[in-house]
Amino acid sequence: MLITTFAKLKMQRKGLVIKSTGSFIKVKLQDGSVCDCKIGGRFRMKGIRNTNPVAVGDWVMIEKKANEALALITELEPRRNYIIRKSINLSRETHIIASNIDIAFVVVTLKQPRTSTGFIDRFLVTCEAYEIPACIILNKTDLYTDDEAIDLWADLQYTYDTAGYELIPVSAEKKQNLDAVKERMNGKICLFSGHSGVGKSALINAISPGLDRRVGEISDAHDKGKHTTTFAELIEVMPNTYVIDTPGIKELGLIDLEKSDLDGYFPEIFKYSHACKYNSCLHENEPGCAVRQAFEEGEIPHSRYVNYLGMLHSDELQKKW
Ligand code: GDP
Ligand code: ZN
Repeated sequence: MLITTFAKLKMQRKGLVIKSTGSFIKVKLQDGSVCDCKIGGRFRMKGIRNTNPVAVGDWVMIEKKANEALALITELEPRRNYIIRKSINLSRETHIIASNIDIAFVVVTLKQPRTSTGFIDRFLVTCEAYEIPACIILNKTDLYTDDEAIDLWADLQYTYDTAGYELIPVSAEKKQNLDAVKERMNGKICLFSGHSGVGKSALINAISPGLDRRVGEISDAHDKGKHTTTFAELIEVMPNTYVIDTPGIKELGLIDLEKSDLDGYFPEIFKYSHACKYNSCLHENEPGCAVRQAFEEGEIPHSRYVNYLGMLHSDELQKKW
């Protein structure tokens, strides 16, 4: 009895889901090999209400029988975090794009194209809400030689220093400062986001020259299709370092955030909110608002406060209290 239990245990192995197309799942085992899997019957019974029971980034246990081509996924480890997309149909099911994300990079540019701080701040708020550490990469620094660009760069640096986010200036094209990005990525599951054309693919190719992907392929490949069900993939760009390749990132909106919680997702605003006169203060024009005062005294960067107010009034947030 003991021996059979032990033998059964030995067949179970732990791995990382690197690709999932619904029924077909690729799992990377700890010895580095990749195993094709499907979901075990028992696994489905657990009442998970997602369109996809496992997603890239999931750690799973698999069981492989000698005479079967596909291994079975039998267990899912608890997720540290995950990003979702709501399903298109009317069911309450959600689609998990990826899980266990260690760091999220938003790639931004001041020219060709120019990224708005509104876009950056929405991304940062989303990361705060998902509890994913975020980092800003300012790409194409080789283009920022004129006075206007130099001023904008200084502003951006000041704003995000004050907000408490790291901003790494790089040039993917000139291969400048890439080591700083590599260092932040090392050993992690990384999410890259940013508008089309900011250089995400160029950056990833510069970081991982051996990668057999054309510039432009990583972020745009799926955008052109009209598929409603799309699946992410983990691409190993350095040893044990993965980039999530997904079509879904642009759709990460302010899902399920409440107005009264929004200040909690702006660290430098939240810091002052405890001193507001009213507990329910939304930091607009309420009397005794410590946030408004800090803003007026120049303690909170202008664009951050303006973007906070913009998000507060956007339809995406639901009023709830
Ligand atoms: P993606 O849509 O974010 O993946 O952007 P791409 O990687 O396709 O890059 C868009 C364009 O920006 C391409 O023409 C790149 O050559 C260019 N590009 C990328 N990085 C840099 C950079 O550091 N400096 C300059 N000047 N151009 C860059
Ligand atoms: Zn206030």
